[in-house]
Amino acid sequence: MYDVIIIGGGPAGYSAALYSARANLKTLLFERLFSGGQMATTEFMENYPGFEEPINGFDLAIKMENQARRFGAEIMIDEVIDMELEGSVKTVKTLAAEYKSKAIILAMGGSPKELGLPEESLLKGRGISYCATCDGSFYKDKTVAVIGGGDTAVEDALYLSRLCKKVYLIHRRDSLRATKSLQVELFRNKKVEIVWDSVIKGILGDQAVEGMNIANVKTNEETRIDVEGIFVAIGANPNTGLVKGKVRISDEGYIVTDEEMKTDIPGVFACGDIRQKAFRQVITAAADGAIAAYSAEKHIGT
Ligand code: NAP
Repeated sequence: MYDVIIIGGGPAGYSAALYSARANLKTLLFERLFSGGQMATTEFMENYPGFEEPINGFDLAIKMENQARRFGAEIMIDEVIDMELEGSVKTVKTLAAEYKSKAIILAMGGSPKELGLPEESLLKGRGISYCATCDGSFYKDKTVAVIGGGDTAVEDALYLSRLCKKVYLIHRRDSLRATKSLQVELFRNKKVEIVWDSVIKGILGDQAVEGMNIANVKTNEETRIDVEGIFVAIGANPNTGLVKGKVRISDEGYIVTDEEMKTDIPGVFACGDIRQKAFRQVITAAADGAIAAYSAEKHIGT
């Protein structure tokens, strides 16, 4: 029997594991693939305090994992397939086994949103990617496009500009959502061409991406752009599949918590990008994780 089981090994999960283990609670964290979640796909992080020089997201994830382990948190690579959250003893079922705990912290984060085009599933991995740092090297000296106007899209465009011949950034409005410092860097970059007010209508190619048709939303004019890679960076969907119908979910699809990270089920807490909140950053995920562990400790003590 564990005191706390944490599902998800991103910054929220590892921060929860660190605080839980340091509170002397028997702590187990499940991660299904690799440490860091979405953070691990960030090449340079410039806004996590304490690092004067940019730090790679995957490297930071490993540091977080090692720090949690140092205080006794167990980290297991296994996929959670079901949970029983009601009652004073919770059950977590994985592909390999079943575990019990007094509290559960949900930190499953989000997964990239898809465009929803019919060609998308056919050409996924054959020119369509959702992770520039994972797949960018396949497009060395080629022409690619990034779809989106947020921090991820701009960071991806900047990253790809260091590898590719040319990068189009296709955004549906005439101003970017990304933070201003990233915008300044982007506007200075000669390899990136921003295509404003435009949405992708279709992806061209049978076996691999050859191009795309985009439409200007103001003029309805359609244009073909030849690219070999399309990087989709239009935000993320919360990974709530495991807990649908078990905890309260907002209309936007996120887990609803209070300030103490409590869900509507006693002993079940949620933190990070999976939670309904205004500002999704690594630092806010880490802060959520610390609060969730503190609340779990109080729950177990009562
Ligand atoms: P995001 O902030 O939700 O931005 C998504 C972008 O995609 C927006 O520009 C949006 O357009 C556009 N978009 C959404 N749906 C679309 C669709 N169907 N077709 C075309 N365009 C679409 O997502 P994100 O950039 O992945 O960032 C997620 C969170 O992580 C944010 O809170 C962000 O600040 C944070 N983050 C931070 C950093 C960092 O601090 N370095 C890095 C990455 C992410 P509109 O603008 O018109 O809505």
